[in-house]
Amino acid sequence: MPTQTLDKEVVIIGSGPAGLTAAIYAARANLKPLLIDAPADAEKQTAPGGQLMITTDVENYPGFSKGIDGPALMEEFRKQAERFGTEFMEEWIHTADLSERPFILRTDSYEINAQTLIIATGASAMWLGIPGEAKVPQGFGGNGVSACATCDGPLPGFRNQPLVVVGGGDTAMEEATFLTRYASKVYVVHRRDKLRASKIMQDKAFQNDKIEFIWNTQVQEILGETQAGVTAVRLQNLKTKAEKELPCSGVFIAIGHKPNTALFKGQLDMDEVGYLLTAHRSTATNVPGVFACGDVQDNCYRQAVTAAGTGCMAALDAERFLDHLPVAMPSGDEVTMEGEHVTPDHQAIIGPDGRMVPNHPEMAATED
Ligand code: FAD
Repeated sequence: MPTQTLDKEVVIIGSGPAGLTAAIYAARANLKPLLIDAPADAEKQTAPGGQLMITTDVENYPGFSKGIDGPALMEEFRKQAERFGTEFMEEWIHTADLSERPFILRTDSYEINAQTLIIATGASAMWLGIPGEAKVPQGFGGNGVSACATCDGPLPGFRNQPLVVVGGGDTAMEEATFLTRYASKVYVVHRRDKLRASKIMQDKAFQNDKIEFIWNTQVQEILGETQAGVTAVRLQNLKTKAEKELPCSGVFIAIGHKPNTALFKGQLDMDEVGYLLTAHRSTATNVPGVFACGDVQDNCYRQAVTAAGTGCMAALDAERFLDHLPVAMPSGDEVTMEGEHVTPDHQAIIGPDGRMVPNHPEMAATED
C-alpha cells in the first residue's frame, strides 16, 4: 500500500533521453517536474538513464565530435535536468489511473497525483535469450552483439567484416540493407522459409548482392573471445537438425521491439504492437493532459536524438496545457485544460457543456 501522497503539476516517467529532455525544459519553465524511473532490474530490462546505459560508443549524438560513452552521455543529461530543479524518484510505477485529472500513479511507497503526465517509458528490444547474447562480461552484448544497426553498424569493428542479422520482418530487412554499406557480407538468418517483411522491403534485400539468406535456421549460440568480441555464431537447421559454425564479427538481433506501455493498456490509444498514438502536430495522446515522447511513441526512428527532440516537444505541450492554451490532439481537435474543444477546421469551440460558439474573432464579436 502506498504510504505517501504527492501532488505535482508535471510528472515524467522514464529517465532516458526523452524523459530527461522533457525534464530540462519543464524545470527551466519553473514547473518543478518530478521524474520517476524504475530501479535497475535486469529482468524488466530497466536502468535509470534508459537504453543508452547498456551501450558504449554513441557516435551520432550531436555535440560530441569524438563520440561519447552511453552512460556518460546520460549522466550529462541528468546533471542538466538537476541543475534546473528536477526532482528525481527511483520507483517502479505499477498502476496508472488516467480516467480523470489529476492522474494517479502508484508505486509501492507513493501515490502521486499529476496534473499533466509525460510518458517516456521507451521500448525494449526483444532478444533471443541465447548464450553469448547478454551484455559484457556475461556475453558479447556491446562487443559485437547489438539490437540497433543505425546505432552500431558504422563502428570500426564491423567495417569490411561478415555480419549476421537475425529476423525476418521489416526491421531485419532494413537493418541488413543498411549494414551492407559497411560489411563485407550480411547473412540474414531466419527460422522460416519465407519472410514476414513487406514485399518492397523483401525485394530490396533480395536484390542486394551482399545479402545472403539462411533459411529454416536458428542461432543457438554466439561465440567469441573477451578481447576480439564476436567471432562466429552456431547455427542449427530446424529441418535437418544439422549444426554449423558461421564466422562473423557481429550479430544484429532484429526480431522486434516491445514498447513499455502495459501500464496504459485500455486507457491510451495504441497501435497493434503497443506504441502510443500521438497527434501529428504535438505529443498529445487521446487523454488531454497526457503526453508521450521518445521510443514509446516512435516505431520508426528510435534514436536518442529523436527521443530528445520529442521530449522537448512534450514539455512544451505540457507547459501550454497548464497555461490553459489549446493543445492539438490525435483527433485533430485542440483541447484546453478546461475541456474546451476547438474543431479541426478551427471554426468553432465546443465547451465542456456541449455549447458551440464560433472561433472566428469577428463572428465571436457579432455574437456578443
Ligand atoms: P529509454 O532510453 O528506453 O528510457 C525509458 C526509461 O523508462 C527506462 O529508463 C525505463 O527504466 C523507464 N521505465 C519504463 N517503464 C517504467 C515504469 N513502469 N516505471 C518507471 N520507469 C519506467 N540511439 C542513438 O541515437 N545512438 C546510438 O548509438 C544508440 N545506441 C544504442 C545501443 C543500444 C544497445 C540500444 C538498446 C539502443 C541504442 N540507441 C541508440 C537507441 C536509443 O538508446 C533510444 O532511441 C533511446 O534511449 C530512447 O530514449 P527514450 O527516452 O525514449 O527511452
